[in-house]
Amino acid sequence: MNQFSYVRPASQKAAIDAIFRDNTARFIAGGTNLLDLMKNGVTAPEKLVDINRLPLKDIRFSNNILHLGATTINSEVAAHPLVKTHFPLLSQALLAGASQQLRNMATTGGNMMQRTRCSYFYDITMPCNKRSPGTGCGAIGGINRMHAIFGASDQCIAVHPSDMCIALAALDATVIVAGPKGGRRIPFADFHRLPGNTPEKDNNLGKGELITGVEIPANPFTRHVYYLKVRDRASYAFALVSVAAALDISGSTIRQARLALGGVAHKPWRLYEAEKMLTGKAPTEENFRIAATVATRSAATFQHNAFKVPMAQNSIITALSKAAAI
Ligand code: SF4
Repeated sequence: MNQFSYVRPASQKAAIDAIFRDNTARFIAGGTNLLDLMKNGVTAPEKLVDINRLPLKDIRFSNNILHLGATTINSEVAAHPLVKTHFPLLSQALLAGASQQLRNMATTGGNMMQRTRCSYFYDITMPCNKRSPGTGCGAIGGINRMHAIFGASDQCIAVHPSDMCIALAALDATVIVAGPKGGRRIPFADFHRLPGNTPEKDNNLGKGELITGVEIPANPFTRHVYYLKVRDRASYAFALVSVAAALDISGSTIRQARLALGGVAHKPWRLYEAEKMLTGKAPTEENFRIAATVATRSAATFQHNAFKVPMAQNSIITALSKAAAI
């Protein structure tokens, strides 16, 4: 690990100034991903700006909106009665992620900022356009069974690793950001990026911007929800495919559906067409099967990951069936 300095600003403004003035500085909260990246030599910040003392630990439901501060701990959010009652999909997704020990350290903002687990990204002897732009991509033509089936580019085929973010995408969350020019709000669907020609950029944060929180509007998805994670082992593994499914069912009709996939793209992959197809339909396995086909029409696979297409289809059918309890 390289030498670095460590500061613990007393105010949000001081934290933002510290990052804005120094291109090599990084915010740190739980550090559950950043410290691994530093130990592996993937990143080498010369300054860490600790935001843990800023007043960003907040779990509050007001004006029909759930407010989560950026430094709220994943395990506290997952277990909070407000979240379990009004946003059970988020609680399920958080509990599917990492391990209890990691969830006790990881924060809401950090979860959103975590980087891909592509093994070539972590192996500094291999080419990787995300780690070192212009060097090539070890995964294209390499072992790519974990990689993307949606939205990849010829520069990068990595996937976003979070479970929490898949639920936040399905629940139409908004990211609250503070920066040198003031605050702004970013719809969750626009926060993470596809790789395109700039795979080194995971998200649309500007220079010096700090995530201060996330907001989730109240919704009718309190009963018929299910987060399904398919992975190589039962715990402490990243998703091959995950599904966040939420249904608003009245009688025998789906009034609204929300569906998002994890483990398949460089960002949480919302399935808008499948949601539209399900609206107004009966919650039957046949309709879920059609939705799964619609959802995977644009999939494009690589040498080792074609299995992810039927896996995604079956996972969508299973998650929707569990959510509907049919
Ligand atoms: Fe790097 Fe992306 Fe290629 Fe993985 S898929 S080696 S992260 S460029």
